[in-house]
Amino acid sequence: MIPAAFEYARATTVQEASELLRRYGEEAKVLAGGHSLIPLMRLRLAQPSALVDINPVRELDYVVLEDGRLRVGALTRHVEIQRNPTIRENLPLLAEVADEVGDNQVRNLGTIGGVIAHADSAGDYPTIAVMLDAEIVTNKRRFAARDFFQGLFTTPLEPDEVVCEVVFPVARGPHRYVKFRRRLFDWAIVAAGAQRLDDGSWRIGLTNCGPTAVRCLAVEQALAQGVSPEEAAEHASDGLEPSGDLRASPEYKKHLARVLTKRAILQAQ
Ligand SMILES: Cc1cc2nc3c(=O)[nH]c(=O)nc-3n(C[C@H](O)[C@H](O)[C@H](O)COP(=O)(O)OP(=O)(O)OC[C@H]3O[C@@H](n4cnc5c(N)ncnc54)[C@H](O)[C@@H]3O)c2cc1C
Repeated sequence: MIPAAFEYARATTVQEASELLRRYGEEAKVLAGGHSLIPLMRLRLAQPSALVDINPVRELDYVVLEDGRLRVGALTRHVEIQRNPTIRENLPLLAEVADEVGDNQVRNLGTIGGVIAHADSAGDYPTIAVMLDAEIVTNKRRFAARDFFQGLFTTPLEPDEVVCEVVFPVARGPHRYVKFRRRLFDWAIVAAGAQRLDDGSWRIGLTNCGPTAVRCLAVEQALAQGVSPEEAAEHASDGLEPSGDLRASPEYKKHLARVLTKRAILQAQ
């Protein structure tokens, strides 16, 4: 299908992007990789009055290690996250996750800022951001990831607010992201992430098991008490209320949450 008519403007700085968004008003949208927004526009599920293209904004495309934290600019593409040596050395889990996002075409254009701003419960980076207590930084504010993802496709972003970077802690220890899907390039039906931190504690997260990414505190606590991964993973579905869809019922998703969490921890070890 062909999208409804819209205005188009290119920004070269974050400030210019924000000014253009203000000028075009509430119905304007940022355009990054376009791999979520354009399909929605073609289906006319989104009909923005204007697109502000941030692809020329070079100041949003960087990966920096600073004060023991990894700052990833919003315009960093999945393919760069897969390959970037600083990410591979300091947060290899993130590179592993980028490996699993879509296909080559999606990875060549899609951006981390786009996944974060889109806030799809099936998106992979929000899970890593929530389980590792990452920060989302915009041109106006900073958010703990757990406060940023407020519901399905729902964030506190204001119409003229631009996601600028995601700040992750460094975590070089054992890790694994296990994604369950029918075909290689599909979105996750359910996915589970496991990361052991330097102090020996575990962080566990789930994708597509609720309206937002889930951090599995019950599993983390069980592991901290010395419970086996097999037993600890049984807590992965505690309190989960996933919605069913064409691919999986809520019960099946809860089952997957337990199985994939167990696999993620065991494979990380
Ligand atoms: C076939 C296919 C398979 C896919 N599989 C996966 C998958 O397995 N896992 C996964 O996580 N994703 C998957 N995706 C989505 C992909 O990762 C997209 O790249 C991503 O969801 C959106 O990023 P984008 O840069 O393309 O953003 P866009 O599509 O350009 O924008 C998405 C939304 O975010 C807003 N936005 C973008 N950047 C910013 C910013 N810096 N500040 C404020 N708002 C912003 C836009 O206004 C829009 O509302 C898939 C996509 C396709 C087409």
